[in-house]
Formats: sequence, C-alpha cells, structure tokens
Amino acid sequence: MTTYTAPLRDMRFALHEVFAAEKTLTALPGFAEVTADVMDAVLEECAKLCQDVLHPLNQVGDAEGCTFKDGNVTTPKGYKEAYKQYSEGGWCGLTASPDFGGQGLPEALDYLVAEMVGSANLSFGLYPGLTQGTILALSAHGTPEQKKVYLPKLVSGEWQGAMCLTESHAGSDLGLLRTKAVPNADGSYSITGTKIFISAGEHDMTDNIVHLVLAKLPDAPEGSRGISMFLVPKFIANPDGSLGKRNAVSCGSIEHKMGMKASVTCVMNFDGATGWLVGQPHKGLAGMFTMMNKERMFVGSQGISQSELAYQNAVVYAKDRIQGRAADGPKRPDKAADPIIVHPDIRNRLLFARAVVEAQRALALYAHMQVDISHHHADAGVREKADDMAALLTPIVKASGTDMGSEITNLCLQVYGGHGYIKEWGLEQMVRDVRITQIYEGTNTIQALDLIGRKLGIAGGRLFKGFIAETDAMLARVQGRNDLAEFVNPFKDARQKLIAATQWITEQSAADANLRGAVANDYLRMFALTTMAWMWVLMAEQAIAKKDSGDPFYEGKLYTARFFVTKVLPQIAAHDSLIRTGSAPAMAVPESFF
Ligand SMILES: Cc1cc2nc3c(=O)[nH]c(=O)nc-3n(C[C@H](O)[C@H](O)[C@H](O)COP(=O)(O)OP(=O)(O)OC[C@H]3O[C@@H](n4cnc5c(N)ncnc54)[C@H](O)[C@@H]3O)c2cc1C
Repeated sequence: MTTYTAPLRDMRFALHEVFAAEKTLTALPGFAEVTADVMDAVLEECAKLCQDVLHPLNQVGDAEGCTFKDGNVTTPKGYKEAYKQYSEGGWCGLTASPDFGGQGLPEALDYLVAEMVGSANLSFGLYPGLTQGTILALSAHGTPEQKKVYLPKLVSGEWQGAMCLTESHAGSDLGLLRTKAVPNADGSYSITGTKIFISAGEHDMTDNIVHLVLAKLPDAPEGSRGISMFLVPKFIANPDGSLGKRNAVSCGSIEHKMGMKASVTCVMNFDGATGWLVGQPHKGLAGMFTMMNKERMFVGSQGISQSELAYQNAVVYAKDRIQGRAADGPKRPDKAADPIIVHPDIRNRLLFARAVVEAQRALALYAHMQVDISHHHADAGVREKADDMAALLTPIVKASGTDMGSEITNLCLQVYGGHGYIKEWGLEQMVRDVRITQIYEGTNTIQALDLIGRKLGIAGGRLFKGFIAETDAMLARVQGRNDLAEFVNPFKDARQKLIAATQWITEQSAADANLRGAVANDYLRMFALTTMAWMWVLMAEQAIAKKDSGDPFYEGKLYTARFFVTKVLPQIAAHDSLIRTGSAPAMAVPESFF
C-alpha cells in the first residue's frame, strides 16, 4: 500500500515565497481576484480530493485495468464515480474562460493541481489533462460556433477531449500521416483513417468524446506542411449542445501495456466520420501545438509527480526498515539493527530525489507563470519575453521532469530492496507508470532536438539570450552575498559551462550535420541541471532570509540546496565532456557494423 500526502508546504513556499505569485498574478488583467488565500483554498481542496478519492484508486486501477468489449471500454471500478466528482468540482475547467463555464484561474495553479493529481493517480489524471489541452486548442483556433457548442461541455467535464495524431507508420514524423479529410458540400469533412495509441479515445466516464484529429486534405502539400486539424466528435452535437447522431468513429481495440493501466490507449477507426476544420487548412500542426505545448508541460508534471510519490514512500520505508548497523556506530542500540536511513547510500538516493523534485517543481511553476504572463500581460514586450522563456523551458520541463521521474522512481525502488520489486508495495507500479512519460507527447530525444535545434535557432538565439539576461539580473541582485555564495558560485560555473557549450555546438555544427543530434540529450540535461541550480539559488535566498524563524522547513531547504550543488550539479561536467566528443564515436561506425 502506498500513501500520498500533498506537499502543500513546499508548493506554498515556491508559489508565495519564491515567486510572490499573488503580486505577479493579481497584476495581470483577468486575475485580480487570484489572491494567495484563493490559491491556498484551491490547493487544499485539491489535496483532499487527491488523498481521499484518487490515491485509493491508484493500485486498484493498476490491478484491474481497462477492459474492451464490442467497441466499448470500461474503466476500473470507482473511476467513473471519481471522474464525476472531479468534474463536478470544476477541476476540468480550472484554467478555462468563465465565458464557457471555466474558473479562469492561472496556469501556475493548474501546474500544482496537475502534479498533485498525477501523484495521486497518474492514470486518472491523463483523462482531464487531455480535456484541458482540447479546451485550449479549441479556444485558440475554433470557430465561434465550435466554441459555443463544444467548450461548455468540455469545461464541465461532461465530455472528454482526445488528441489523435499518431498512426502506425507516423509517430515522431507526423508528416507521414495518411488519414484523409474530404470536403463535403455542407462545409464539413469526411475523415477516413486509423489512429493508434489514442489515450482516452473511448471510455465510459463521459457522455461524449471530442477528438482533435490530424488529417490531410486532398490538395495538401507533402509532409508536415500539409496537415490540417479537425474536430470529430463521437456523438455529433446539436446546436444547443445536446447529443445528436453517433458519428462513424469507433474504437477497434485497446493496447495491453507496461503501465498506466487505468488510462485507456485505443486504436481509433475513422470510417468517413464527420469532422469540422479547426483553424486554417494545412496549418493543423501549428494549431495542434497549442495543445501539445500545454500537454508537454503537463507530461513534465507527470514525471515530477511520480518522483514525489516515490520519494514520500521511500522515506517512510527507510525509517522503518532495519538492516545492518551504521558505519559510525549503532543509532538504535535498543533494536537488533539500525533503520536503513542511517546508511549513506540510502541517504544519497533520498536526497537526490528530494533535491531534484523540489527544483523541478519550482522550475515548472516558474515556467507556468511565464505562460500566464505571456497570455495576460498588458504590455506586448513583456508578453513576448515571457513567451520566449516558456518556449525555451517547455522541452526542459517535459524531458527532464520525466527522465528524472524514471530515474528517481527506480532509485526509490532500490531503497526497498527486494520488496520494491513486489507489487503490493507499489514502487514497481510507479516505475512502470512513469516510463511512458519519456515517450509520449514527443519522445525526450524529440524534446532535446527541439531545444537544441528550433528553440536555440529562433530569432538569432533570442530565447537563450533571454535566459542569460534573466539570470544576469538575478546574479546582480545577489552579488556580494557571502551567505549565498555556496549556491551562487556553483550556479555561475554551471551557467558558464552551458554558455560555452552552446557556443561550441553552434560553431561546430556548421561543419557537422550530425552534431546536434549526437549531443542533444546531453545538452538538454546540462541545461536542465543549470536551471535547477538557478531555482536552488532562489529557494536558498528565501530560506536564508527566514532561517531564524524557528521553522525547521527553512533549515531543511538549505540541507537540500547544499546536497544539490555538491552531489547533483557536478553531473554537468560529464555532460559537458560528452558534448565535446561530438558525433564521430557513433557516426564514424559503418551501418554494416550493427
Ligand atoms: C500509452 C501511450 C499513449 C499515447 N497517447 C497518445 C495520444 O493520446 N495521441 C497520440 O496521437 N499519440 C499518442 N501516443 C503516441 C506517442 O506520442 C508516440 O508513441 C511517440 O510520439 C513516438 O512515436 P513512435 O512510437 O511512432 O516512435 P518513432 O517515432 O518510430 O520513434 C522510435 C525511436 O526513434 C527516435 N526518433 C524518431 N525520429 C527521430 C529523429 N528525427 N531523430 C532522432 N531520433 C528519432 C525516437 O526518439 C524513438 O526513440 C501514445 C503512445 C503510448 C505508448
């Protein structure tokens, strides 16, 4: 049995003390009422729901999984009722516009909600996560009629949203997709094709499912420039939002997979299904990116959520399990052995998890606040700057959050020894569940290529320069602070290495077409470690300011900050060295060797 207690103290620390969210958010048009009290009330409600309703279903859902019969999918026992409670609580429309029944709350708050829901029940959280992305894409690109009919039902959670991109021969390379959209006389389109791996493509928790489908028009240009996006509902909605005719979209089968067993993954058949264009013809990939950028950050939150859950449970186990004696003398002489938390290796694992999780939580929160600023700030220049930062950080939050999710769940499983491998303890479920997060929403290699290729290339490196300017401002603020030097200096060193590596890659890749691909993953990890160190400087600054308050929380922050800069951040040197080896060690090997 696993337990989960929402880390509200740490969330509030990041939200209120590190980022002064109330000041930033209430200054944005539309968020005047988002006070610290409001945010805290939302977080507390969410914590209760996660602890009392969603987490108790996590292991049950894994054991039972989803079942498929005659085109219908049944979710595990208790999920339907939990989903009803979740949607009636307004959680599906947390960030959606009040014009369509949403709560109009910031993305920053939504991140913390998503992390809690993910920790409580990763499979469950994917259903509303996809609905939220669909809401965002339709809000940005839908016609007024599409918004009027579909958004209120998605926002209320009565209807599910799903994204249909992948085909058996088209995954990372969506330009290869074959699903066709043929115009009908009435302005709708007939959609024909088969999509695979569609999360929430069919299930019994909602009355309707609204698929956003990528397909090609008859006159489409080749490749990714020829993709359009269509709204294809399971039941065609009447103009008043009631359910109309059943559409020709059906679930052919469901996948039997490694983890996330309560989250259904479907083969979806579109047999001349009626759909409507969303956005411009051939510009569907750009439209879908509105959804995918949200989902990429969301998937990052899934990785962080599993690290948090694994850490919490491993700490309880490490304090309870007695094996061996502490190297420097017994700590519990009254017992036959000491608890394993006395052993340096166990502490290294637990502190690694905590140092990474708390930094990633802060980074993800910061990135989501940039999204809020980019959507709402009155000044176009400020909006652009925030949008640049969010765009730069999106692949980092996604790939690093999920890579670390896999690493940390494994590290924590090891804390349990053989018991970690046994189902009832729940750690093996976390390892299995989190693994997909490194793959879907664009594999982590695709994220790394996005960072090193597209994101660094935008407007002559404007995004990277923005990151440097932002951290320069922070360094200027803390200059001369001896009490912070143990955190600031390692950050400065890491940042310098990152700047030098970025320059080296830019220079060398002119002569080596394979260079970026060969070093992309190391570069993303280096960047991620640097951003985590940045977050630790910000957190340590607050902790030092309050360390005499008598609250042990702040002392704990400094222990963790110290562990990060001494035991985690030095990994950056290895990534730096690996980058400098370039592409030759892999690419000079002839293909016939393999
Ligand atoms: C459980 C689950 C749920 C999913 N949910 C959805 C969903 O809701 N909707 C949806 O549309 N899809 C969904 N997917 C699909 C998922 O997004 C894809 O599996 C993923 O994008 C990778 O595509 P692929 O599996 O075809 O792998 P491929 O694209 O064939 O990649 C295979 C390997 O090659 C690498 N690779 C590919 N291209 C390059 C390149 N240019 N450079 C370097 N390396 C490269 C990849 O990183 C990967 O390691 C889901 C998948 C699963 C398993």
